[in-house]
Amino acid sequence: MSNVLVLVDHTDGTVRKTTAELLTIARRLGEPVAVFIGDGAQAALPALGQYGATKVIALTNPELSQYLVAPKAEALQQVAAKIEPSAILISSNAEGKEIAARLAVKLESGLITDAVDVQEGPVTTQSVFAGNYSVKSKITKGTAIITVKPNAATPEAAETSPEVEEFDVTISDAAKTAKITDSKPRAATGRPELTEAAIIVSGGRGTGGDFAPVEAFADSLGAAVGASRAAVDSGWYPHAYQVGQTGKTVSPQLYVAAGISGAIQHRAGMQTSKTIVAINKDNEAPIFELVDFGVVGDLHKVLPTATQEVTNR
Ligand code: FAD
Repeated sequence: MSNVLVLVDHTDGTVRKTTAELLTIARRLGEPVAVFIGDGAQAALPALGQYGATKVIALTNPELSQYLVAPKAEALQQVAAKIEPSAILISSNAEGKEIAARLAVKLESGLITDAVDVQEGPVTTQSVFAGNYSVKSKITKGTAIITVKPNAATPEAAETSPEVEEFDVTISDAAKTAKITDSKPRAATGRPELTEAAIIVSGGRGTGGDFAPVEAFADSLGAAVGASRAAVDSGWYPHAYQVGQTGKTVSPQLYVAAGISGAIQHRAGMQTSKTIVAINKDNEAPIFELVDFGVVGDLHKVLPTATQEVTNR
């Protein structure tokens, strides 16, 4: 069986859910080998073994965390030369996509970004043109390098007992071009990460700038909070929470749109959600065309009632 490299997505050593998704996909394609960049590979072993990593390659060279992106691509190139994987899976975030692009050039290989599904082959599915087309494709040159969107797979456990193998890489001066001078975590909200959340409650212009009912309902469900561009452009919610064509693409189990009309650019970011609920006071709002459940009403009344109901259970 061929090796499939999975670049571990982690925050200060805490393995993110997207890694479990990548490992689940990797098992469809071959033997998953996890690559952990930074300190903490040993502590991450249970999280990686739970989803079938057969081995964990640890890269701890200090340059990898001191400089932006380029050294990571160089390091992965060296790992790939040793492991000779048939595919390399990386999370589809800004850094992951840049690493993948640089790696594809180095390995003279094809690259597919933003896959929403990957099956044997590997055959990938991408959602393009604001979600209006679904494209299946296959890499025909070199190693298949694929970046995969969060929630592209449901993590399926497959217990293994991997061991850590330290791997020393050489980072060239040419890769040390952009040094990280400061790095601070974003203030914690206590809510799940937007792109990984199983439930999202989003607010739009209909909130009138008052996101308190949206946040309260989200908290009652353990959900993440999202926002439409109208709400973000009005300065009511930070851009990091914008859902849509020029924001984040999400695909949760449940998406609640409160005071959002359902413009095509918003839909592009959420229409692959498994169940969609809308609360809108206009019964002709376009969002009602794609919902599974709709409530016609004022969100300032509906959301607090719903929050109370959930809290009472
Ligand atoms: P509106 O369209 O104004 O809708 C507000 C809704 O709230 C209405 O349906 C109204 O009936 C309802 N409402 C009002 N008061 C209440 C109440 N008290 N209770 C319940 N309902 C109420 N948009 C995005 O969201 N994400 C993107 O990434 C994005 N990218 C874009 C990129 C481009 C290039 C362009 C041109 C546009 C983009 N847009 C994006 C903007 C998009 O076209 C819409 O303008 C935007 O989505 C509208 O946001 P909204 O639904 O909150 O506001």
